Amino acid sequence: MTTNAELTSRWQHSLMDNYGTPRVPLVSGEGAHFTDADGKVYRDFVGGIAVNALGTAHPAVVEAVSKQIATIGHVSNLFISEPPVRLAERLIELLGRPGRVYFSNSGAEAVECAFKIGRRTGRTHMVATTGGFHGRTMGALALTGQPAKQEPFRPLPGDVTHVPYGSVTALREAVTEETALVVIEPIQGENGVIPAPDGYLAAAREITRATGTLLVLDEVQTGVGRTGHWFAHQALGIEPDVITLAKGLGGGLPIGATIAFGEAADLLTPGQHGTTFGGNPVVCAAALAVLDTIAAEGLLDHVKRLGERLRQGVEAIGDPLVSRVRGAGLLLGIVLERPLAAQVQQAAQQAGFLVNACVPDTVRLAPPLVVTDDDVDALLAALPQILADVRDAVPAEDLR
Ligand code: PMP
Repeated sequence: MTTNAELTSRWQHSLMDNYGTPRVPLVSGEGAHFTDADGKVYRDFVGGIAVNALGTAHPAVVEAVSKQIATIGHVSNLFISEPPVRLAERLIELLGRPGRVYFSNSGAEAVECAFKIGRRTGRTHMVATTGGFHGRTMGALALTGQPAKQEPFRPLPGDVTHVPYGSVTALREAVTEETALVVIEPIQGENGVIPAPDGYLAAAREITRATGTLLVLDEVQTGVGRTGHWFAHQALGIEPDVITLAKGLGGGLPIGATIAFGEAADLLTPGQHGTTFGGNPVVCAAALAVLDTIAAEGLLDHVKRLGERLRQGVEAIGDPLVSRVRGAGLLLGIVLERPLAAQVQQAAQQAGFLVNACVPDTVRLAPPLVVTDDDVDALLAALPQILADVRDAVPAEDLR
């Protein structure tokens, strides 16, 4: 049996460290619970960063994956297998209008495909938002509005204008008849769980329609039930030209999906784009199990109810360190008065809760959609002490 210290040391010697933050070595789990190598159990409010929609080791996913891999694990895109066809049909059905799906293996790849669809309009200019996150591959990174992540890799492809997230005026000024696409997250996830202001996405739809520009909604983080709707934009009644999905769709297995509607669905022609693993039948079988389980177990309502309980519960603590809670469904950001999110993450971990300091002043909660009342009660009961411990460890003058 390995220990936390041993696994951490082996990890440090063999893997490139992409975040530079301490990590808990997890060795087993079930539902919204994980166990580390020293045997400590955690309640999971990270969900693999909004990935483990059904938690870990959900029987429906285990069964779907086992069944599929026992027959056809992979065929390549030279052939057809049934799971990607069924998954595409199911996604289109949930989206409620005709469209076509391109499967890949991650959020960044889903965005790369959208980028290429944009290029196929014959226009090159693109508009994205400051603070937005769309992935780390070069095209996705060009759209990502976080200079620190872009700087080491310039020059980036494309002619991208970043506009302040939420400003309709800025969008109106930036988008012209030369603009191929506008890409927006319904809630900026990585940037601290910042929801689009009321009316912003509707205005983006109106502006892009007037200029013949594609509206791409990046639902990699907000899609697949995370906000209590199948897809976040459905709550707003707008129809984008392209949406990108990943994260929760595969229930823990790697998948990306780019779904294009109307004329956008025909912009990429055969031979222009492709990937070996996209549409892998095992991953698609897992994704179908995720969608079926969300529907069968009424998880959208569950997400709305528990998300609201969590939000109200955290606000009701009234801790002086907490300024507010924002987000939707089970994608919530606890916004702090000070940049102490890493300390809160650490203290929560000590207390047996996994949470994520996504930006210095915001703690992100993105638990599995199957998180229970008991898990939420436990976190709400523990949070006052967690926050107090963080405050106690900070010099009083820093708190003011
Ligand atoms: N778009 C959004 C909105 C995301 O949140 C992320 C991942 N955090 C990505 C794209 C990139 O996804 P991946 O890490 O799977 O490449």
